[in-house]
Amino acid sequence: MNREQKRSNRAVETIVTHGGRHPEDHHGYVNTPVYRGSTVIFRTLAELDDYSRPLRYGRYDSPTTQSAAELVSELEGATGTVLAPSGLAAISTALLAVLSAGDDVLITDSAYDPTRHFATEALGRLGVTARFYDPRIGTGIAELIRENTRAVFTESPGSLTFEVQDLPAIADIAHSRGAAVIVDNSWASPVYYHPLAMGADLVLHAGTKMFVGHSDVMIGTVSANAAWWPKLNRSARLFGTTVSPDDAYLMARGMRTLAIRMKEHSARSNEMATWLASQSDVLEVYHPALPSHPGHDIWKRDFTGAGSLFAFRLAPRPRTAIAAMVDGFEQFSMGYSWGGYESLCIPFDPTKSRSATTWAAEGNMFRMHVGLEDIGDLKADIAAALDRYRQAG
Ligand SMILES: *Cc1c(COP(=O)(O)O)cnc(C)c1O
Repeated sequence: MNREQKRSNRAVETIVTHGGRHPEDHHGYVNTPVYRGSTVIFRTLAELDDYSRPLRYGRYDSPTTQSAAELVSELEGATGTVLAPSGLAAISTALLAVLSAGDDVLITDSAYDPTRHFATEALGRLGVTARFYDPRIGTGIAELIRENTRAVFTESPGSLTFEVQDLPAIADIAHSRGAAVIVDNSWASPVYYHPLAMGADLVLHAGTKMFVGHSDVMIGTVSANAAWWPKLNRSARLFGTTVSPDDAYLMARGMRTLAIRMKEHSARSNEMATWLASQSDVLEVYHPALPSHPGHDIWKRDFTGAGSLFAFRLAPRPRTAIAAMVDGFEQFSMGYSWGGYESLCIPFDPTKSRSATTWAAEGNMFRMHVGLEDIGDLKADIAAALDRYRQAG
């Protein structure tokens, strides 16, 4: 249990403005500059022998990467943060910090697809078994935990199908059975969700998404509570996990506007989801902030806001109708990833990425990231797209 884990008592808007910045160390410059470097010079043998000196070699740290990591740690209420070269590398870094040959890991069936592939293929090669659980399992997780289960990996809500997980219940049971809890918090960001305060041990981000915010950098972060930080840090060092100072700089720069961007993305995604639910041919909208969403009560209890991303399901029509819809977008674009200022909408097949649960709902699924354009322009684009969908079918 790490409920006593304390976040900074500064408000999130204040943390993103001031966190990780030390102008007095950089000639007064507001932002920590990009320190490009591998070699760090020691002037004396005493300095070389001083292993408490923080900046000894470029792979381990630079003032730029330290600054970005410190900002994420303060936001997450974490003891420390490791930066990784992508969101997926953050996922593998977290899992490899916890798991060894002979261990077992439970992963939500709603997890991001590459998380599943890493767990089954890469961890499988290393002698770790990965099993998947229904994201709505709650206290039922107790029946799945085996003697060698060392970690439970959650992603809440799932970034394709948006099931919300009962993290405090899962964390209580996992801890009582000796398993660590890892949370992919990319959707809500620390602006709206604080997994460490609810019992998680490690929390990670596809920094590529909301942290960077401009669709121009690949990066990830893993933060840990006091109990796990030394193990996470050591493991990442053993594997040589590092990021360029340029990328760390761009992530930190994006994060200065994270709180205000999240508010705008959240308001637009709520409005779009509510509006979509009333349109003909829309069979279901999967957005935790909608009272009709099955995970709404847990979301309301545990989150303070919603992310930009949600899904919706349209009445069954052939692939040509999907093409008519998405090929004619004027404001929206199709593309992987999300979290930038620009709106995205992409069709997907949820049956391809699950094993513990089945997806039987009829019709066509779409995932939408609502960007920072005018909401009226966005609705008009989707209204026209739905017209094309209906006419083509
Ligand atoms: C995109 C994504 C990742 C992976 O991030 P990359 O930077 O693309 O490797 C991990 N988790 C979630 C929820 C994501 O959406």
